[in-house]
Amino acid sequence: MTAETYDAIVIGAGFAGLYAVHRLASAGRSVLGLEAAEEVGGTWYWNRYPGARCDVESVDYSYSFDDGLQNTWTWTERFAAQPEILAYLEHVADRFDLRRHYSFCTEVVGARFESSSSTWLVRTADGGQRRGRFLLCATGCLSAVNRPDIAGADDFDGEVYYTANWPHDEPDFRGKRVGVIGTGSSGIQVVPIIAERAESLVVFQRSPNYSVPMPNRPWTEEDVRRIRAEYPERRRKAAYAPAGTPHTSNATPLAETAPRERWDALTERWTQGGVLFSKTFPDQLTDLAANDVAREFAEAKIRDVVDDPRVAEDLIPTDHPIGTKRICTDTGYYETFNRPDTTLVNLRREPLTAITADAVHTSAASYGCDVLVFATGFDAMTGALARIDPVGPAGDRLADLWADGPLTFLGLMVPRLPNLFSLGGPGSPSVLANMVLHAEVQVDWVLDLIEFVAARGIVEVEPRRDAAGEWTDHVAAVADNTLFPRAQSSWYLGANIDGKKRVFMPYVGGFGVYREHCDRTAERGYPGMVFTTR
Ligand code: FAD
Ligand code: NAP
Repeated sequence: MTAETYDAIVIGAGFAGLYAVHRLASAGRSVLGLEAAEEVGGTWYWNRYPGARCDVESVDYSYSFDDGLQNTWTWTERFAAQPEILAYLEHVADRFDLRRHYSFCTEVVGARFESSSSTWLVRTADGGQRRGRFLLCATGCLSAVNRPDIAGADDFDGEVYYTANWPHDEPDFRGKRVGVIGTGSSGIQVVPIIAERAESLVVFQRSPNYSVPMPNRPWTEEDVRRIRAEYPERRRKAAYAPAGTPHTSNATPLAETAPRERWDALTERWTQGGVLFSKTFPDQLTDLAANDVAREFAEAKIRDVVDDPRVAEDLIPTDHPIGTKRICTDTGYYETFNRPDTTLVNLRREPLTAITADAVHTSAASYGCDVLVFATGFDAMTGALARIDPVGPAGDRLADLWADGPLTFLGLMVPRLPNLFSLGGPGSPSVLANMVLHAEVQVDWVLDLIEFVAARGIVEVEPRRDAAGEWTDHVAAVADNTLFPRAQSSWYLGANIDGKKRVFMPYVGGFGVYREHCDRTAERGYPGMVFTTR
């Protein structure tokens, strides 16, 4: 084999991959980035549907590692839209000269660890092979697009779009009958905008979700000055906070709060907007009675907005406590269903039976469509890595190692797959945290470990089976102490993908607690690891 051996191969050019490449290159390591897309951006490259925005404030949902970057980039609004976040990541790539390390339009289709050289041999879709001592899989927790297998979908004659793989040239919906399938965060963001542009819109909803209005606004110059002045404190608060943002829950549990004050606190959080509503009270995601109060508050808001009471009831979830599926954030979502040209179809009442050349059929009716938009989500947390299906030195495939659900050490490493790191994947707070700071924490930890082993002549490092088992049991035990597992239809459990093992995948112990686990492991010299020297 003649492939050049890099110190590290990084798969992915989103927030995690770019930071990993930057840290490795800055440390003087040879690094190759491989990215399926033609440019940097990850999530924000692919999900360019109208209405796409972050639901964590941009001043927090941005890198903290470089003061110069932080103090020279100006977010124009509170929750930036996709083009601005993509522009930010392009700016980061320029500022730190990261593109020179990448091979774009290069999809990784396989990886095998070779014991003879203690390296990963990575196969790409173009038939190429690349070799690296360490393999950092920054492949994304929400990047493997879910394309549901719906009878007749291939016969549809009109235009078809996926929110998660949106075309670069914006589709023209004028004068067209559009059907949107899916009402998660993506569907909820795109629906109001399509309704404004199309002749008519039918929203096919299998499960309703809770959504909080996003009180977005442009930043003024004064805001920007204030944010810059507050940044060090803001980042200090976020560093070990439960969600990786400066915001925390009220100190007193809802159960111990007077009814009037509960309502005031929920109103305040509702008005602040975004995912924070789930964390108004510390017991909201652990005590069903407390959750019921928050849930009823949100349901009353839906009934207030939606004119038709039957439509309002269809829009109210009945299958999970509020916040146990990711709460959505919207701009005018519920109001959209007051439009005469917008129809909600409840697929629980009238299941989708087939798609034909010009219509979507349910058990009750046929809905003519010129355009179909699939907002049907992702094979989340494990999908992107499973599609690569890395193979360890003894021939163990990830697919087999994870047949009973993901087994990880700190959500970062997998026994029998040495020198491989999964970033943002199962067993880490991942999607329950601000994923930008999460990427920084994980990449910093990986870099420290790489330096640790390099200094000791260690060529292979992997977690012991029992250490990974202990962490994985801890992830499950923490989840079982919350209401999260009650959301049985959630992608947190893999429930949206046929045949996927139902296991609660993210670590709900909190970003700060997770970071302490990572810190402690490093400080103690990485107990639970097997080190191999030549
Ligand atoms: P990604 O950004 O997903 O990047 C992974 C990259 O790896 C992709 O570019 C992909 O093409 C590449 N890749 C994958 N497999 C391969 C392969 N086999 N070969 C080559 N390349 C490959 N999180 C928040 O914290 N706050 C938010 O507000 C928020 N909003 C979101 C909005 C949307 C629409 C979506 C879908 C997710 C959102 N998330 C949010 C989660 C988001 O995914 C993370 O915040 C973050 O962007 C993930 O960065 P990443 O680098 O880990 O992965
Ligand atoms: P999602 O939450 O998984 O929603 C997918 C939707 O498609 C669900 O309503 C699902 O119904 C439906 N669906 C899937 N297959 C279907 C089928 N065969 N027939 C009918 N309906 C089907 O995916 P998403 O909306 O892309 O969001 C995923 C995550 O990305 C979010 O939870 C969030 O973490 C992140 N995100 C964030 C933002 C943001 O606000 N910043 C925006 C977009 C995405 P079921 O629920 O019944 O499966």
